[in-house]
Amino acid sequence: MATVTLDTLRKEFDSGRLVAVDDVSLEVGDGELVTVVGPSGCGKSTTLRMIAGLEQPTSGQVRIGGEDVTDVHARRRDVAMVFQNYALYPHKTVRQNMAFGLRMSTNLGKDERNEKVDETAAMMGIGDLLDDEPGELSGGQKQRVALGRAIVREPDVFLFDEPLSNLDAKLRTSMRTEIQRLQEQLGITAIYVTHDQEEAMTMGDRLAIMNDGVLQQTGTPTDVYAAPNSEFVGGFVGSPSMNILDVTVEETGDGTMLTNGDRFTYTLGGDRGRHVTGADVTSARLGIRPENVRVTDERDGIETSVEVVEPVGSDNYLYLDLGPEFIARVDSGIEPATGEEIRVTFDENDVHLFDAGTGDALLAEGEEPPIVTA
Ligand code: ATP
Repeated sequence: MATVTLDTLRKEFDSGRLVAVDDVSLEVGDGELVTVVGPSGCGKSTTLRMIAGLEQPTSGQVRIGGEDVTDVHARRRDVAMVFQNYALYPHKTVRQNMAFGLRMSTNLGKDERNEKVDETAAMMGIGDLLDDEPGELSGGQKQRVALGRAIVREPDVFLFDEPLSNLDAKLRTSMRTEIQRLQEQLGITAIYVTHDQEEAMTMGDRLAIMNDGVLQQTGTPTDVYAAPNSEFVGGFVGSPSMNILDVTVEETGDGTMLTNGDRFTYTLGGDRGRHVTGADVTSARLGIRPENVRVTDERDGIETSVEVVEPVGSDNYLYLDLGPEFIARVDSGIEPATGEEIRVTFDENDVHLFDAGTGDALLAEGEEPPIVTA
């Protein structure tokens, strides 16, 4: 296996009018699984295709195992790619499909190739499908064959391009677990592209979140969820999405006072050493996750009324009149009536604050005291 390094990797289309991948730098460790996630059109597939050698970068470098492969032909890179549409040869049997890549990429004899295919097919639970053609298989079985075909070659790097999108929800969940198990068992270095943040959160050792061709943030799912570096990342990761409200920011003797129109004020005491970065912040966007909004009896809670109660099994989603789609995710035992006036609150540690213009995160941990403006 090997590390993969992207060094200011760039891809322009239409003579530079469209920047699909904007100077992305990323290091994927040996045996690591990194999920590249972002909305449609953000440049995920183009990035993956440049790693595979299927797309020539405009500038920047791709290194695999430390070796610069930017100008190396796809066939000469030790990389296997698994696609959403399986890309199996329709008139070859499963065995022939799996053996084909081996024939292309190794000097193994026919018996050795068959032995390897048998071993991998057994590991993937598709041993009894070896004589079938793809047309006779279900979607899940086809994807298993596509995975098996990649694994049997024992490449340095695996690239997955939305491999589970064509499967139903249940199968997708079980295949996710299976890919993770194989990836860990075989110590595979893997890059997994998906537009589904939930898939990315459950699968990757680390996430690389892209938007508009730009790599926004990398980190473990826990880190990215807890400390998004921008409003985009905060809103993209987590479901339902983070609630966002416009606030004005004012430093007072008690801390940082956030005011949302005439609806509420909330003071960040700053006792954890959190401080607002940027001396001239007067307005910002407050982010609070639905699961961090609590219904409270406390008199200083924020007054609001319940617009809709949506039961989702163990929880209820309360749509509150604090914003266009402001949701509190509460225990299913909490069932206010539609139109009922309630109070809600949230912990200061759960508050996110973003720059109203750039979207950058404004709350930092540290020793610095809150900035006091005159
Ligand atoms: P999706 O999830 O929809 O596949 P993505 O994040 O993988 O999206 P890309 O397929 O990498 O996005 O596309 C990034 C941008 O580059 C898009 O605006 C797309 O239209 C553009 N693009 C991709 N390939 C080409 C091409 N061959 N010629 C021109 N533009 C392209």
